[in-house]
Amino acid sequence: MTRAHVGLGSNLGDRMAILDTAVRVLDADELTHVMAVSRVYETAPVGGPEQGPYLNAVAVLETDRSPHELLELLLATEDGLGRARSERWGPRTVDLDLLLYDGPPVETPELTVPHPRARERAFVLVPLCDADPFATFPDGELAAAALARLGPVTGVVPVGELQP
Ligand code: ADP
Ligand code: MG
Repeated sequence: MTRAHVGLGSNLGDRMAILDTAVRVLDADELTHVMAVSRVYETAPVGGPEQGPYLNAVAVLETDRSPHELLELLLATEDGLGRARSERWGPRTVDLDLLLYDGPPVETPELTVPHPRARERAFVLVPLCDADPFATFPDGELAAAALARLGPVTGVVPVGELQP
């Protein structure tokens, strides 16, 4: 079993129910267990067109799937929850990103791990540290240290919890 961290986001529809369902779908995979989930944060959209606020959370997984198999599972789960792919960084019912996967970094056309923008985004790092205070990037930097480097956090507000 390998540890992996998945970022979840939603800014369309019943956002809390969508995040909850996404966690359940991942846990239902026979090779994947959800070990912990962060609180749910309401966050201001970053980049992309004018759009409503997101709910973001992070799930800590133990999995026997490879990074690419896990990406397949994430994309299939997005499709199953009715994500339409239109504009880049536009509004979406659900976004599932593989943030970290224990082991060497992955760099392929369809998958980059650690997620290339994770370290610059408070809406990723705040729930990541909440779910796993010892989450660490492959170069040894703690997610908490990356968050501290960003300076004061604005626009990331805890609003609820998912049932484990
Ligand atoms: P974003 O999450 O940047 O807003 P999308 O969710 O639309 O963008 O993802 C587009 C593509 O990003 C996916 O089809 C996937 O192939 C690719 N991708 C590369 N690295 C990752 C990763 N670590 N996690 C999720 N998707 C990734
Ligand atoms: Mg994504």
